[in-house]
Amino acid sequence: MSDDKNIETIASVLKCGEDSQAAIIAPDGESFSYGELREQVSRLSGQLTEFGIQKGDRIAIVLPNGVENISTFLAVSEVATAAPLNSSYKFEEFQFYFDDTKAKTLITFPSNALEAIEAMSGNMSHITVGFDGDGQLNFQLERKGLQSDTSSPPSDPDVALVLHTSGTTSRPKRVPLTHFNLLTSMRNIVETYALSKQDVSLCVMPLFHVHGLIASTLSTLQSGGTVVVPPRFNPLGFWPLVEKFNVTWFSAVPSMHQALLARSKNNQPNIPPSLRFIRSCSAALPPNTMRELEERFAVPVLEAYGMTEAAHQMASNPLPPFDRMPGSVGPGTGVEIGIMDELGNLLHPEQKGEVVIKGNNVTHGYEDNPNANEDSFTKGWFRTGDEGHIESTGYLTLTGRIKELINRSGEKISPREIDEVLLDHPEVIEAVAFGVPHATHGEEPAAVVVLNNSVPPGELVTYCRTRLADFKCPRVIRVVSEIPKGATGKLQRRFVAEAFLKMENS
Ligand code: AMP
Repeated sequence: MSDDKNIETIASVLKCGEDSQAAIIAPDGESFSYGELREQVSRLSGQLTEFGIQKGDRIAIVLPNGVENISTFLAVSEVATAAPLNSSYKFEEFQFYFDDTKAKTLITFPSNALEAIEAMSGNMSHITVGFDGDGQLNFQLERKGLQSDTSSPPSDPDVALVLHTSGTTSRPKRVPLTHFNLLTSMRNIVETYALSKQDVSLCVMPLFHVHGLIASTLSTLQSGGTVVVPPRFNPLGFWPLVEKFNVTWFSAVPSMHQALLARSKNNQPNIPPSLRFIRSCSAALPPNTMRELEERFAVPVLEAYGMTEAAHQMASNPLPPFDRMPGSVGPGTGVEIGIMDELGNLLHPEQKGEVVIKGNNVTHGYEDNPNANEDSFTKGWFRTGDEGHIESTGYLTLTGRIKELINRSGEKISPREIDEVLLDHPEVIEAVAFGVPHATHGEEPAAVVVLNNSVPPGELVTYCRTRLADFKCPRVIRVVSEIPKGATGKLQRRFVAEAFLKMENS
């Protein structure tokens, strides 16, 4: 669908479906067949070009899940680079992301995402998206940005998508993913689960993250299947949707699977025979949860391993008749996986070390971040920051994390970002955030602080809520007289977290 004959773009996935076949369905709203979606995307990308948007421009998208979001994303990636963002970010977070991606334009619904709109710089344009009376999606140029910054070099036109991952510093790292990276990842996913035109996926993961965007949505479109996309995950109305649309598979994080199990305890849902498998990714699936899911819903549950830098999937347990192993994320799926020691030596099966990957789905490097690139790429391998071992069967088991990150229900949080926000409070002298175990979220952020003068209880949590998206806010912040240091005298988050848990449990 691109003018550039050399680049196969991700919107080429729209060629994969028959004209009349349903491509995307919003359960309570609009739906598009492949024929209609092709037309919408081609018209929308034409409008963007008329507004002056060009290859290499970065376009921030702040929209809830839905047909508007998917159509906008495909249109943007066709003529420029999409930078979808979490709509729950706060003003300062939006400011950071707009600035960091050098976003030229923001796309929102007309009366929505007010904090994002407020955070736009004067150089940015604002476009809204909505349906007209004839059921056509249209962009409207609400505000044209002032003279844009011409000093920065043009961005790589092959980059379809820019996302961020939490880094070891408080500044998230910018991950560019090319059309080729994304198409490779989609093909790997289609192959892993033998996706076809008959498949219907239910997308409950947010579209600003690779899990929902690449696995649930684009891979399904690439197989010519149908994506059902409600605005959000709702365990109450979940199974009726699966039944109504003859869903064949869905992918979610473990906490969502646990919510489905909890809901179905006294109320066994009707599972239609169409359902082929359930996929779990983005955080560790406890083996008990996997077993319970299989018992309750009577389909195979396949745990996969994904990461933004890999355009999502790296490994997955396979469909029957092959074995799926509770506690393992399965073999590499079109991605080479190795285990490396600190010195860059590849280790043997069963030996524990850092998980490293290689493949055409992997980003060619973080943008404007030579230090992170030096740390992350060794001898052509990308270091994931996860720790694990590979069995002689080729199955990978993750055993821990080397990188400093809190994984709350699949949402990644950099503890340093929380430290910095707390340190900005006038009464906070020292602050250390860390992850603590949580029954449903897997992990949850918490923090300890040293204060100058005391503050009313709850003030620091409330303060964090004004600066950080809700999922990043520590629920518990304890005041201590001094931050415990390890034997080396150096601050170690793990040590602080252990001391915190001891304090909480005593
Ligand atoms: P993201 O970039 O948000 O997709 O996060 C990638 C990280 O999520 C990985 O580096 C892992 O730390 C974690 N992750 C993804 N899948 C799994 C899994 N199945 N089990 C444990 N951790 C996972």
